[in-house]
This record gives sequence, C-alpha cells and structure tokens, in this order.
Amino acid sequence: MSILDARLRGHETPFNANEITERRDIIMSSLYGQIAQKAKDYESTTASFLMDMVRIPSFSCQEREVVQRIRQEMEKVGFDEVRIDGLGSVIGRIGSGKRVIAFDAHIDTVGTGNMSAWKGGGPFEPRVEDGKVFGRGTVDQEGGMAAMVYAGKILKDLKLYDQFTLLFTGTVMEEDCDGLCWQYLINEEKIKPELVVITEPTNMNIYRGHRGRMEIRVSFSGRSCHGSAPERGDNAIYKASRTALEIEKLNQRLKADPFLGKGTVTVTQATSSSPSLCAVADGATLHLDRRLTSGETKESAMAEVADAARRAGLKEEDFKAEVLQYSEKAYTGLVYPTEKYYPTWAMPEDSSFLKQAVEAYQGVFEKEPLVDKWTFSTNGIATAGMHGIPTLGLGPGNEVHAHASNEHCPVEHLSGAAAFYAALVAHMNGKS
Ligand SMILES: [Zn+2]
Repeated sequence: MSILDARLRGHETPFNANEITERRDIIMSSLYGQIAQKAKDYESTTASFLMDMVRIPSFSCQEREVVQRIRQEMEKVGFDEVRIDGLGSVIGRIGSGKRVIAFDAHIDTVGTGNMSAWKGGGPFEPRVEDGKVFGRGTVDQEGGMAAMVYAGKILKDLKLYDQFTLLFTGTVMEEDCDGLCWQYLINEEKIKPELVVITEPTNMNIYRGHRGRMEIRVSFSGRSCHGSAPERGDNAIYKASRTALEIEKLNQRLKADPFLGKGTVTVTQATSSSPSLCAVADGATLHLDRRLTSGETKESAMAEVADAARRAGLKEEDFKAEVLQYSEKAYTGLVYPTEKYYPTWAMPEDSSFLKQAVEAYQGVFEKEPLVDKWTFSTNGIATAGMHGIPTLGLGPGNEVHAHASNEHCPVEHLSGAAAFYAALVAHMNGKS
C-alpha cells in the first residue's frame, strides 16, 4: 500500500472510487504528495542503507567504519559536500543558502546486552520481518540517519531548499556523553543553525524537549584510628550515610514541571576508604544521579546537595561536592573533556518552528501530530540546553525498543521520517 493509499483510506469519511481518483490527483499535484511518494519510492533503499549500518558495530568511540559507510551513501545520493570533523562526526551538506538547518543523528550504539536474548542472527545481522528492520541501532538511532540521507535525496530531486544550507550530521559518542559532539560542532566547527532537528526515536511524533541530568560525586573526609577505640576517630561513612538519607528526602521535595515532569536525585554508588577493616574510615564518597526538570540548573542542584549535607549536620570542611568530568578518547584520538552536566531544554509551545513542524506534518500525513517529550536525553542538551538553538525532533522507531534486545524499527517509519524532514525544509523554504 502506498502512502497515498494509506492517506486516503485513513480519512475519517471513506471516499468512493471516483473521489479516490480525484483526491489522488489533488494530493499528487501538491508538493507534500510528491514528497510522500518520493519517500515511498526510496523506502527499500533507505532500509537497505540502515541494514548496512547495522552490520557495522559502532559502539561509542569506535564509529570510524560506520562513519565511512555513511559518507559513501551521502556521496552516492549527491550531497554537495561530505566531511568529517576532529571528533569523527560526519557532516553532509546540501545547498549554500544563508539560512542553516541541521538534522542530527548520533550513529554510535550501546552494547549488545545478553547475546542469547537476540533472535535471528543477532544484533549485527539485520533482517526485515513483519515490515520491521531488526538489529542493534535500528531505533537508537541509525534509522534516523538513514531517513535523513534520503530526505536529502528527495530535497535534491525536487530542489526545495534555495534559501538554505542543510547540514546532516552523523554524530559520535552520544551514548557515552550526550551533546559532546554538538559542543564540538558549535564551538570548534562554528556551526550555528537556526533550527536543529533531532532524529532520535519519537515513534513518529514531534518532541520538543526533555529533562536534563548531571552526575555528581560527594566526597567526605574523616579521621582514621584503631577500630577498637572508634571514639578517637571521625568516621566518614557515618557522614556519608546521614547525607544519603537527606538526599532521599531531597528527592521527595523536588518539584514537578507540568510538561517535563519531576526532577529526581538518587544515590547510585557509595564507597569508602580505610587503612584496614579494623580501622575507622577516613574517606567516603557518594555518587548521585540527578535528573533536572524545568528551572533546575547545575548551580541550583549543587546548592541543594550542599544543603542536604548541612541538614545532615555536616560542616563545610567535612564534604566536597563536584560534577564529574568526561574525558574519553574519540576514535580520531582527540580528547575533548567536558563536565557531566547536561542541561534541561524545551522548545516553547508557541515557537514558530514548532508551528511550521506541525504544519509540515499535517501536510505529509494528513493528520494531527502528537507533540510530546523524550524520556531519555539527547544531543539537544548541547544545541538547545547549552547554546539556546531552537531544537525539536521526530524520529523513526519506538523508544521502548532502544537499548533493548531485538531492537526493531518499522520500515514505513523510515520513509515517513524522510518525508517529514523534506517537507519541513520545503515548508520553511516557502514552497509547499
Ligand atoms: Zn540515542
């Protein structure tokens, strides 16, 4: 069934045969109809490209080979320029207009998990079954990458972008440190689009934000002494324990935002040091996972942790709270350190970009989109959270399959997403 047929049949009042012919003519004469049809024409090629990417394992910091495969496809479909930045992300360009839109897919994946839980040939032997592509990365999120490249092809075919420079970024290391690749693109490559479209899975809905997060370490100092006379020492584990219980109470006090949900904090690890198992602990640490909702920042979150320690009866000299650092080496050899602070972001409900995205969606799919948010974090923390660049997203696949065994993405989502990306550009360019 073509997208056209699906659109006609999905209409609330069914059309008769004559009306269908008439309606088909109207749709085909519209640009949205042409875009939808092109996307359908390229659907199996898009799926094959996705399957090629899945065959190449591409864990974070090991993306070299898959980046080369993406470069090859971009060159094949006629991108104007394809290059690779210092961190190893691939950047395809179409057009050279004054306005810039970037479409982003991270192309690293998480590990395989328990291999025996995978059916068929396993995570790196993709297959199509029941209209879905199975394999690691199909949803999170090489499916988005495949759709982006064929959106570029459609835009080239129909020449719908004269005002724009369109960038299609296949970015690295996201699963390890979301947003690092975009910090690099913005700070070092000086890329500053008017809009970034994230292609992480949204089950074909339009998403406009998500909670931020940070990783915090709190270190406690004490004084060791012989365990037979603990009163001579000062036990760091007791300080950490009292603080941990205050962190639990802090979590209950954190506020909720009607759109993004509640901020949370939890203790994820506790460690301690002591000269012997027969000595009072002179050091302890707590690791905290903090999820940040609207209005919560690094500064506010760190102040709350210090306050929790004070509520636990600790003095300033008893503890030190800090944000952890990320400093892994990219496959290019570059180390580009950053703090593990990933700011919250949300595009305002009345944004003109969101309005145009909704209109493009209505144009292509002839129905209303659901506008919602991601549960997990994306590169939007850098584009929107750190740099204030308007960011929204639509991506193939359902996020419930991300990081799971037997990850799979409907083939029709691939063509649907490609059609949406092309339609958005066409609409913003004023041609639809
Ligand atoms: Zn992802």
